[in-house]
Amino acid sequence: MTIQTELMPTGEQLLLDYILDDLSAIYDRIYNIADRLIKKHNPCNIHTTKTGYTLCKQYNTVRSVKGKEEKRHYLCCTACEYQSKTGCPIKCLPCKLFLCGSIPNGRVIIDRLYRLKVIAERKYKIALFPYYRTKNEILKDSLRKISYGR
Ligand code: SF4
Ligand code: SF4
Repeated sequence: MTIQTELMPTGEQLLLDYILDDLSAIYDRIYNIADRLIKKHNPCNIHTTKTGYTLCKQYNTVRSVKGKEEKRHYLCCTACEYQSKTGCPIKCLPCKLFLCGSIPNGRVIIDRLYRLKVIAERKYKIALFPYYRTKNEILKDSLRKISYGR
């Protein structure tokens, strides 16, 4: 993977590419672990009703807004431009590691996602904020963190 940045002179682009390749592989591993955990524990109880609405624990009723087009999905992804019926197409790790306050404390999944967050952020300097970003954007920000030590 190559991401052009102004952080290093051209001669060091190769080194940058190695770092990015490693970081990209780590990113994927963390993302896939989180994905498996979420599928196993199903904390959000995402489900489709008989009438075709997709709901979750937090947004568990259909709300119609007068004068506006009725929505069919009521998840925290609802407002995101990337949202698709088959999940997140841009592999956004910050979103993948997020659970809202509707998931009760003490659940194993909260603890495990939190640990993954700590590993991603502290050990590998992966930039977990803000949300709604592509993997490439996140890796670019992470590289900035690594380069400047923040
Ligand atoms: S970026 Fe986040 S909010 Fe958007 S589709 Fe992916 S997971 Fe959902
Ligand atoms: S994190 Fe909360 S709002 Fe988002 S899908 Fe899960 S229950 Fe719904």
